[in-house]
Amino acid sequence: MTARRRLVGGGRLVIASHNRGKVREIGAMLAPHGIAAVSAGDLGLAEPAETGASFADNAALKALAAARAANLPALADDSGLAVAALDGAPGIYSARWAGPGKDFGVAMERVRRELAGREDRRAWFVCALCLAWPDGHTESFEGTVHGTIVWPPRGERGFGYDPVFQPDGYDITFGEMDPAEKDRISHRAAAFRALVETCLG
Ligand code: IMP
Repeated sequence: MTARRRLVGGGRLVIASHNRGKVREIGAMLAPHGIAAVSAGDLGLAEPAETGASFADNAALKALAAARAANLPALADDSGLAVAALDGAPGIYSARWAGPGKDFGVAMERVRRELAGREDRRAWFVCALCLAWPDGHTESFEGTVHGTIVWPPRGERGFGYDPVFQPDGYDITFGEMDPAEKDRISHRAAAFRALVETCLG
């Protein structure tokens, strides 16, 4: 196995995302470690097609493309919802289920429709993070949070599928949860903790 590689404080890191919210969140998590984040969008980098077969594949292809184009280390994340009774769907197609209008009301309604008549309501969110270097070295991390699908959707907070996801041990959905609490228990937080421990701790 190749030795784990760490990020050096004081350096610059590309956030391989064109999503401003993600760039802001990731930048805030990196700042205490002395890492300055620049976004792929600000560097004018193209967004590669997400052609991978898994969250980890998609995170890696986005991170590698950005690292090579910018000649700097780059971090990408790929995330989504997996529903047990739907064999893990929508999975890597989570964003696509919302359609061209990115309407998550449509996506949540599809989950409800496809689950009709099934008893098993278990689901989990997954976040894959990949840190890549221009020479092709990668470090990959994954975080999950388990819960159940509820209907009707509840709560105005969060984004995406949050209003239909009730994490285990809670009687509220991610859509109803204080954002600081979600940030503490989410799939993204779990993946970041693993990254920080290995590459920044
Ligand atoms: P992407 O990784 O930006 O392509 O995100 C995939 C999709 O997964 C998003 O558009 C969301 O719908 C969904 N998703 C990922 N993380 C979350 C979350 O924390 N809450 C709700 N939906 C999420």
